[in-house]
Amino acid sequence: MDIENKNNAGQNCPLPISNYKQIVMAHGGGGTLTQQLIIDLFVKVFDNSVLDLQHDGAVIEIDGIKLAFTTDSYVINPIFFPGGDIGSLSVNGTLNDLAMCGAKPLFISSAFIIEEGFPIEELWKITLSMKKAADNARVKIVTGDTKVVEKGKGDKIFINTSGIGIIEKEVNISPLNCKPGDVIIINGCIAEHGISIISKREGFEFESKIVSDCCPLNGLVQEILMVSKNVHTMRDATRGGVASVLNEIAMSSNMGIEIEEDKIPVKDNVKSACEILGFDPLYVANEGKVLVFVAPEDSDKVLQAMINHPYGKDSSIIGKVVEDNPGMVIMKTLVGTTRVVDMLSGEQLPRIC
Ligand code: MG
Repeated sequence: MDIENKNNAGQNCPLPISNYKQIVMAHGGGGTLTQQLIIDLFVKVFDNSVLDLQHDGAVIEIDGIKLAFTTDSYVINPIFFPGGDIGSLSVNGTLNDLAMCGAKPLFISSAFIIEEGFPIEELWKITLSMKKAADNARVKIVTGDTKVVEKGKGDKIFINTSGIGIIEKEVNISPLNCKPGDVIIINGCIAEHGISIISKREGFEFESKIVSDCCPLNGLVQEILMVSKNVHTMRDATRGGVASVLNEIAMSSNMGIEIEEDKIPVKDNVKSACEILGFDPLYVANEGKVLVFVAPEDSDKVLQAMINHPYGKDSSIIGKVVEDNPGMVIMKTLVGTTRVVDMLSGEQLPRIC
């Protein structure tokens, strides 16, 4: 890497990190700017073969034992929302990233950054919620850290969790593994998390309450891996939504992806909320949705296993991997035309996870 290579990114940073001299909110939005920051700065500087894969977590091997290791920080606002809170989210989100590596999550850490004045009662509720989520997924919270910052120097509470899980020998899930012909399955309706957060934050009242889909996906993933040895790629469609995640996979594998709009499940109330608020559900965050890329010969049994699981009853085949248009996502729309589905460009909803 030539770090002397000067460019217009700023006087002190020698790397080509877009044209921004300062961090903007969209750098944390999960779209193009987040990708640029990760690829042009972190991956370049930290530079190693594990990180290069840009998986949901690091897959590492120690003495013949395959482990997944991941970390995530949670800065959601509001901290309590329909369907969960920052505590359950911080456990489920991290164990879902382990599950996306094909791992069985085992241990989690929890680091709290708390603003002075934060009510102990709320911290207690959040802690109980983390314990419940961990018990539910059969993981243990085994280490942690507590920091307090002065009033006004933080926003209530931020939580970082890291996780470790074990990967069975024969499991090999990676964003680079998807192949032409792979069938793409989603485990249910999209856009519920993001819309529930924005509704609560802004005080919007919709006819029927929209609840976050925040849930642990490790049980569902274990069922999927039990019925098929031909699952190639999995990713949870969090920030940036289904559209951004499909773009990430298309780009890293250099494959084309074709999806069909009428196969992507969206509940009617979420659809109308998106219309009112001006959001495309394809770009809205989920916290309990996985995209599974599986060889066509196993797609029926994987779909059936997913439908049989409580977190997969609305599962649907939404598309396939193709050789055409490498690195791009193309959607057949409801009216029969096709259009390119780009990665989220700006920032849609700040602090949704
Ligand atoms: Mg993820």
